[in-house]
Amino acid sequence: MIIKIRSDASQETISEIAAILEREKVHYHLTQFGGQPVFVADNVSFTIRKFLTKNAHVVEDFIDTDDPYSLCSRHIRPEGSVIRVRDFVVGQGNFAIIGGPCTIETEKQVLTTAQHVKAAGATALRGGAFKPRTSPYSFQGLKLEGLKILQKAGKETGLVTVTEAMSSEEVELVAEYADVVQIGSRNAQNYRLLETCGKARVPILLKRGFCNTLEEFLMSAEYILSGGNDQVILCERGIRAYETHVRYTLSVGVIPALKSTSHLPVIVDPSHAAGCASLVPSMAYASTAAGADGLLVEVHPDPEHALCDARQSLTPDEFAEMARICTEIRKVLP
Ligand code: PEP
Ligand code: MN
Repeated sequence: MIIKIRSDASQETISEIAAILEREKVHYHLTQFGGQPVFVADNVSFTIRKFLTKNAHVVEDFIDTDDPYSLCSRHIRPEGSVIRVRDFVVGQGNFAIIGGPCTIETEKQVLTTAQHVKAAGATALRGGAFKPRTSPYSFQGLKLEGLKILQKAGKETGLVTVTEAMSSEEVELVAEYADVVQIGSRNAQNYRLLETCGKARVPILLKRGFCNTLEEFLMSAEYILSGGNDQVILCERGIRAYETHVRYTLSVGVIPALKSTSHLPVIVDPSHAAGCASLVPSMAYASTAAGADGLLVEVHPDPEHALCDARQSLTPDEFAEMARICTEIRKVLP
């Protein structure tokens, strides 16, 4: 059960409710959701229900849910969530495109890409400064220098910036330089890291772990929301299956499934799913048609020479054409 407390309730009142739950031996978690206190509680007895109903001046609402991911559940916010950072708006019918290189290489590379993706309709710029590489011998990213380059490109173009943090210490640093913190697929179940994101006051773009079910994915998001940060964007980026022709297998079906079970916006990264530039646009179209709230796509001014994920990077022209067609697709959606 979720117990929403009125935002003007005093600390004393909240403590009283906590004391009643404790007396009734109800296991609960107290946090903030959308700026108001909420209790996530289980095994709520008749006595407590009576108490909640009687105290409507303090208790705004109480919602029964069997979902293990209470705060991510659609039940708590049936209208859906919207995440807004300046011109970047995602969810509740708003479609946002994030474009940029896999990794930040040089100032010129990032700025050129930023100008192109902006002209194509993107409202956010991506680029990795801390890179989770399969091999410890591969380029690991420019780290702080990369964050500074990304920040500069964001300021010059007005684009919102998105970049990955791989550890709890990096969350704070990334949040200082970028607008949105990305948590990568490999870290999707790094619970201490997710807890840190719960305390952050910036939106978190959470990638689906490539071996995670829908429920596991939402439980990861629940870690962030249970810490008090409800600014979470879910990102499907392909899961591991039998197919070797593509890098991962894009789960198109999970898009409407996530949207009906959760209030959080759902975007898709077709680049890492495909692993190959020629397949990226088709996957972007399928995702758009399936109701995604946005796309995150790798773009490089000279893909052949990209330091990371060269095969899957679109040229600026390919990206612009993809964005144009996605906009057309959206016009015929219900
Ligand atoms: C990325 O977006 O650059 C990335 C590494 O993605 P993922 O975590 O989905 O592999
Ligand atoms: Mn990449």
